[in-house]
Amino acid sequence: MLLQNTPDRLALGSLLVALTVLALKITAWKMTGSVALYSDAMETVVNVAGAIIAWMAIRFAARPPDANHPFGHHKAENFSAIAEGTLIVVAAILILQQAIAALWEPESLDLSVVGLSVNAAAAMANLLWSRVLIGAGTRRRSPALDASGRHLMSDVWTSVGVLGGLGFAALTGWGWLDPLMAVLVAFLILREGWKVIKSSADDLMDSAAHSQDREVIENAVRASSAGALQIHDLRTRRAGQAVFVEFHLVVPREMSVGAAHDICDRIEAAIDEQIEQVRTTIHVEPDFHIKKHGLEPD
Ligand SMILES: [Zn+2]
Ligand SMILES: [Zn+2]
Repeated sequence: MLLQNTPDRLALGSLLVALTVLALKITAWKMTGSVALYSDAMETVVNVAGAIIAWMAIRFAARPPDANHPFGHHKAENFSAIAEGTLIVVAAILILQQAIAALWEPESLDLSVVGLSVNAAAAMANLLWSRVLIGAGTRRRSPALDASGRHLMSDVWTSVGVLGGLGFAALTGWGWLDPLMAVLVAFLILREGWKVIKSSADDLMDSAAHSQDREVIENAVRASSAGALQIHDLRTRRAGQAVFVEFHLVVPREMSVGAAHDICDRIEAAIDEQIEQVRTTIHVEPDFHIKKHGLEPD
């Protein structure tokens, strides 16, 4: 059932999961008084904000092209991923501040099994949902869903580290392990935020389609271009969930415009069949434009 879910429904699902996880993590913090668990809960506030941003961006990106944005609004998703990355970085800095303060003035801890289990349940919810998001994000090439999923996965590792550290602190009675774990968490979160920002910024720079998509496109072009002589200067670029493809199609110089256009329509349909949300533009050339390197029709 989840497989058929649209990205905007998945983004709404993220919001529900984030709110549930936030409630659980705040409960765990209140039960234990742990700075590390407080940090973990504060980071989840970012998830709530991130889910709202991703949901709005996905809806905005799906708007049809208009006069001001004739190529569509796909890149709204990349912007939301950058916003999410920035939020992650801000959360890390807030946690760091809190943890360093607690290092000087340790607070009383009550590391009950129940308190830690509540946080563990929240981490489990994050783990399951991040798998759903990363799967859907990859399948639909949605940067917003992918960023949310990877973000959640980093939260899971954070929780695992925190719970491990706190469990150890409970066994040994070393209370200073708590703020120290919080500092470690802050650095892990900072790193994830940077990674999300970096990959989204890269996408905004008109990065090429993923290599498996490029292969699929090249195969579709070769298989559907009978009658043409060569395909060269094939370029692809990604924008949000969309892929733009353009290339030169060399045909015999005496071929009629009608016949050349029929080949173009065939190729466009073949690519359409393989890749979702693709837009293909073809430039037709006579045979003396043949280049040394290019694709040949099968
Ligand atoms: Zn050319
Ligand atoms: Zn046409």
